[in-house]
Amino acid sequence: MFTPEALKKELAKPKHIVVTTHHKPDGDALGSSLAVYHWLKAKGHAVHVIVPSDFAAFLDWMPGRQDVKIYLDDKAAHDALIAEADFIYCLDFNGLARIHAMEEAVRQAPGAKIMIDHHLEPENFDDYRHWDSQAAASAQLVYDFIANVMDEHQSITPDIATCLYTGIMTDTGSFRFQTTTPATHLIAADLITLGAQNWKIHEAVYNSYTENRLKFLGFCLLNRLEVLHEYRTALFSISREDLNRFQITTGDTEGLVNYALAISGMKLAALIIDRTEQVKLSLRSVGDFPCNEVCKTHFNGGGHRNAAGGNSNEPLTNVVLKFKSILPEYKALLIP
Ligand code: 5GP
Ligand code: MN
Repeated sequence: MFTPEALKKELAKPKHIVVTTHHKPDGDALGSSLAVYHWLKAKGHAVHVIVPSDFAAFLDWMPGRQDVKIYLDDKAAHDALIAEADFIYCLDFNGLARIHAMEEAVRQAPGAKIMIDHHLEPENFDDYRHWDSQAAASAQLVYDFIANVMDEHQSITPDIATCLYTGIMTDTGSFRFQTTTPATHLIAADLITLGAQNWKIHEAVYNSYTENRLKFLGFCLLNRLEVLHEYRTALFSISREDLNRFQITTGDTEGLVNYALAISGMKLAALIIDRTEQVKLSLRSVGDFPCNEVCKTHFNGGGHRNAAGGNSNEPLTNVVLKFKSILPEYKALLIP
């Protein structure tokens, strides 16, 4: 394990560095990665951001996005970069299984692994860790790492501030989830002072729907939402046909699950989608219901108490039935 001082000393010399994050990067994953990318590049390092998969088009505007490499687009070249890296920044994930096809390359790589993350129960693959499961976003921890651990608040440029603000904004549902603290707001305020244009970021992320995406939202609300009042639970189940009908692409279903929690009294929301590879499940809760525990125990996944995800190789209808069959076990938490 590195100490902050040892890390600072190492980073005083030019290094080869890879920055990576979890499969299907979200705003926090990409915001954290691009912030670290800009920060390290400005310090004179050779830096490559390599991510395991594509991501939502509503993140395409982010500064540095054009430099992001998708691992499988050129596996051999990216494997070489990972193998020769002195440092590998692992951002917004707690276990190497979360980087899918990149897992083995990163696991075998001799470079020191720096984990900055806020997911529970991190796996021991790292050589330096800045981790706090209470943090609202990994981007909040990246801010703390750069400003306080590395003592480089002055090196936060408007681009870095923009990336970090995006990460915090998206992971807190625009500063409304239970994870949002005074510290979150103080950091957001500082990032605006440092050049993040908050209203422009909100516009770019939230008001950038395609017509199809908005119509798909309407379709799901009207036709695919099932409310289980006896369990204060609401769920969407979306078939492959539904996705094709509205030409849904990566990121278009992001945020959909939260609408189910907008019904008064709901404690748990689920979004179950038949993706090409697997059935993907997203859970969201308010209060004490442990989404991460349900995803870990039953759906091969994990996450946070109030937001978690998982997957299954079973057909969609079976996954929906399985999800419903779990609810009686948790009735005491859902209907206190
Ligand atoms: P989402 O439902 O938006 O995909 O993910 C919600 C949260 O659960 C995120 O923090 C994400 O990192 C985590 N998560 C989503 N899918 C998985 C998964 O398959 N495995 C694990 N361990 N965590 C997941
Ligand atoms: Mn996150």
